[in-house]
Amino acid sequence: MKMLSDYLIQTFGEKVYRLSLSSGCTCPNRDGTLGYAGCSFCSEGGSGEFTAAFKSVSEQIEEAKERIRTKTKAEKFIAYFQSFTNTYGDPKRLKALYLEAIRRDDVVALSIGTRPDCLGEEILDMLEELNRIKPVWVELGLQTIHEKTAREIHRGYELPVFEKAYRDLKERGIMVIVHLILGLPGESREDMLESVRYVSSLTPTLDGIKLQNLQILKGTEIGEVFLKEPFPVMSLEEYADLLRECVALLPEETVLHRMTGDGPRSLLIEPKWSLNKKHVLNTLRKAVLS
Ligand code: SF4
Repeated sequence: MKMLSDYLIQTFGEKVYRLSLSSGCTCPNRDGTLGYAGCSFCSEGGSGEFTAAFKSVSEQIEEAKERIRTKTKAEKFIAYFQSFTNTYGDPKRLKALYLEAIRRDDVVALSIGTRPDCLGEEILDMLEELNRIKPVWVELGLQTIHEKTAREIHRGYELPVFEKAYRDLKERGIMVIVHLILGLPGESREDMLESVRYVSSLTPTLDGIKLQNLQILKGTEIGEVFLKEPFPVMSLEEYADLLRECVALLPEETVLHRMTGDGPRSLLIEPKWSLNKKHVLNTLRKAVLS
């Protein structure tokens, strides 16, 4: 396993910062195609709360750079389209939008969050073309490999759909990052480890992984359930211990892009310990690097 910060410096030769941008896409799990309520853990922001309202990509990039000016001296950026389903839309419109981002000298890579059931041929061809210009990373929200949990969280697709999308993307030379959520209701520690073992055994080898503990947010189905009937939530120590075991299963080449959830403070019901970001990151870093 490699840490993302090390991977970025090795790959791009300097510090690189992610800029959260909006493609203006919605999600089939929210627009009525598959459902209206979305995945049971997803807030109205589409699992990415920090993106600006839709403006041109260049405007968004300039605004995002301005916002982070005090946090980093980075001069190279990843154009990061995280919220909702960023391949769910007219491929021509999306291509123009993503080209606008990757043609900039200050953008070194394009990162697109999406669902595996929104990767038709035309979209895959478009991603392959963009990948010839600058590296394209596709982030797939798998969350779990267990069908029972997937149904309960209303994920809206089954595991073979993910497997096909993974194959299609890898055949086109596109980097894939998989999201898993640890702590979904009804899942045992062994269930979660099984999901990690599964993604660790994918061929070709998984490029990147985002592991996050469940964030129970206001305005989500899981949040409502929790407020009526609270279910157990891992302490930071329990989560750090689980994370350590998960990370030990990952192949050497897989990059760890995230190790904790990052829900908006204003919506967070539990775990409250997530709010102390510095302490959480130090504890988790210590656990995975020990
Ligand atoms: S697919 Fe993503 S954006 Fe859509 S409801 Fe689920 S988590 Fe939210």
